[in-house]
Amino acid sequence: MNSQPPKAVVVGSGPAGCLSAISLANLGWQVTIFERRRDLRKPTHQNVETGFTETFRQRSINLTLSARGLAAIYAVDGSIVEPLMQQAVPLQGRIVHHSNGKTTKQYYDTGGECLYCIERDLLSAILVERAVSKENIQVHFQHKVESVDFEKNTLRVQNTVSAEGYAVNFDLCIGADGSHSVVRRHLLAATRMEYSQHYMSHEYVQIRVPHGLDGAGNPKSLLPANYLHVWPRGDSSLVAMANENKGFNCALFAPRSVFATMKSPKDLLPWLKSDFPDFVSLLGTKQLLTELQNNPRSQMIITKANPYNKGTVVILGDAAHSIVPFDGQGLNSALEDVRILSILLRRAQEASGDASHFGQNATAISRAFEEYSEGRHGDLVAISELSMNSHYNLRRGFATLSYMIKKHIDNVLYALSAQKNANLTFSDLKENIYGPLPSGWIPLYTMVSFRPDVGYCAARKKAASQERLIERVGMALGLLVVGCASWALSFR
Ligand SMILES: Cc1cc2nc3c(=O)[nH]c(=O)nc-3n(C[C@H](O)[C@H](O)[C@H](O)COP(=O)(O)OP(=O)(O)OC[C@H]3O[C@@H](n4cnc5c(N)ncnc54)[C@H](O)[C@@H]3O)c2cc1C
Repeated sequence: MNSQPPKAVVVGSGPAGCLSAISLANLGWQVTIFERRRDLRKPTHQNVETGFTETFRQRSINLTLSARGLAAIYAVDGSIVEPLMQQAVPLQGRIVHHSNGKTTKQYYDTGGECLYCIERDLLSAILVERAVSKENIQVHFQHKVESVDFEKNTLRVQNTVSAEGYAVNFDLCIGADGSHSVVRRHLLAATRMEYSQHYMSHEYVQIRVPHGLDGAGNPKSLLPANYLHVWPRGDSSLVAMANENKGFNCALFAPRSVFATMKSPKDLLPWLKSDFPDFVSLLGTKQLLTELQNNPRSQMIITKANPYNKGTVVILGDAAHSIVPFDGQGLNSALEDVRILSILLRRAQEASGDASHFGQNATAISRAFEEYSEGRHGDLVAISELSMNSHYNLRRGFATLSYMIKKHIDNVLYALSAQKNANLTFSDLKENIYGPLPSGWIPLYTMVSFRPDVGYCAARKKAASQERLIERVGMALGLLVVGCASWALSFR
């Protein structure tokens, strides 16, 4: 029998790809990552005027890591958490910038839980750094995967620098190649996959706000750094998140039709000045126009697939489920995919009895992938739908009185609730997919972002029954008020 280590290929060195590679390497696999882009860690230079790191991170967006994503990273390789935390900016809550110029603070969690904001390319670079430090991981940048052959278990790869093409064989393949996944495209043709793809009617443009300078000439943030800033304006919205360099990466979301009516960035100015005057004066018209000029509009795509696997090939992260970013869960769910898949693979490897030859046990690998696909689908559909619902809050809801009252009731009931702590720690989540369903009152946002022991499906179900209870109590109180009023009137 072949005593070579089992051979895995990972397509894409984004967060899901790198973490998958690290988890496979920890299970004893020889892993090769193919990434079509160049190495993000190549030297960069700092623009002294703006404070922006130019070249690769020029168009990077900021992502928020929540406990769900952190638990996944911790489960796979705890040593990555510290370098990540050093670069991330903790966000305690959001600051809502209202149309009348006033602002309100909304904390994410009464228990003090935070989100951690980090530039996407910086996160990928930290994960790549950890991957290449492992003896049994090789990364080939500027290598594009073109196709997958499910019969021969091979990938067709092209070196985009030399234009040379070649075939690579594998025992296991993970497609983590993002929303426009090539691996998914080939899975779709090779299996009975249900697949849907939908472009949102809204698009976004990135805008960077440079740091300011304090009295001593040191960089300072122009907005409070430890909050996510939101400007809800009906159909459109603006979001700003701090970088570790004290600048902000922002995204302006608006219907495609609004952007389409503007022929040049200048056409956007009257609208921006009337809807986001504080933001325009913060950045200055000249810098705003430069940003709008340099940053193309981007689309948001929602994809759903089922199943995610065939044989010893599986897709995860955005390749399997692209969701809208309004709950900040695309990355977090992608990292959670890796955590769950690695638990199932480890269990299968241990159950196979002969771990050193697990790579040749295609049946066991494919059964683990099937189990992953069947068990994971409901949760991924749930987070896709929850994220879509959150778009309303970003555009309008956060600024409304009804949202604030409901949030207050949610928080009070949560504070009174007996069960505030997770049943499982991050360490327990190395072995367990989720914990038992928690009792007591827990706000939906807390369950989605800060309770990795609760699956998205269970969180949605629990939140729906809490919502029904609030509605019933509200209705009963309303009836009580009307009853008392009519009783009082009957005595006049
Ligand atoms: C505006 C915006 C804001 C967001 N904010 C958040 C947030 O706050 N929190 C959050 O959790 N999520 C957020 N997301 C979602 C998050 O960015 C994604 O879910 C996450 O990056 C998915 O990671 P991934 O590794 O699956 O895919 P990707 O990050 O897309 O990585 C895929 C990798 O595969 C490579 N690749 C593609 N095709 C090939 C090929 N053929 N061969 C070789 N390599 C290939 C790509 O170059 C890339 O490096 C946001 C998304 C957007 C658009």
